Parts: sequence; C-alpha cells; structure tokens
Amino acid sequence: MKHLCHALKCATPVPPRLLMCNRHWHLLPKPARDLIWHYYEDGQEHRKDPSAAYLLAQSCAVTIVALRERVLSPITARKHIVSCLACYNGSAEDQDNILAGMQIDELLDEAW
Ligand SMILES: [Zn+2]
Repeated sequence: MKHLCHALKCATPVPPRLLMCNRHWHLLPKPARDLIWHYYEDGQEHRKDPSAAYLLAQSCAVTIVALRERVLSPITARKHIVSCLACYNGSAEDQDNILAGMQIDELLDEAW
C-alpha cells in the first residue's frame, strides 16, 4: 500500500517515514518541522507504534497546513485540536512542548 502525504486533500505518495510531501512540509514553520523529527522514533512507521506525542505533533502539523491552505476553517481546526487533546494519553510535558512549539494558540487566534 502506498503511503500518502498526510496533508488534507493531498494524494502525493511519500516514503513511509515522511509525514508530508515536500510542498506541504515546507508550509510548516521550522519549529513545527523540528518537533515532528524530535518525536519521531526510528522505524516507527514499520512497527506502527508512533508515540502519543508524535501523533499529537502530527495532528497539529496537519492542522497548521490545512489552515494555511484554507482547507479547514478556524472553527473546524480548533475542534480538531480539541478532539486530539481529548484522546491524547502522553505526558503533559510533551503536550505543552508541542502546543507551544507549534504555536497552536497563536495560530488559531490569528485565524479567527
Ligand atoms: Zn502533500
């Protein structure tokens, strides 16, 4: 099975260890890209066991790109983040690190 870019409405095939195609990846601010790699663990795409922190970072990244491309409305984006946090079972420290590093609050405020 082909692995596709995780950006919404993108069907570009990418290697399994990469989250997004080159174009979408570079719509992410550098700190957000760094966070994805910070929480990436070598081989997780084969073991199918990404950490809760990685999944949260991934969801935030997908949301950021969707907002930038106006694929999601700010209201829907906010709901998406809230529902990700409701299921999140990683550490509070990682959560704070990801939300601050991804500047989610600022982004959603700006988008309003
Ligand atoms: Zn893409």
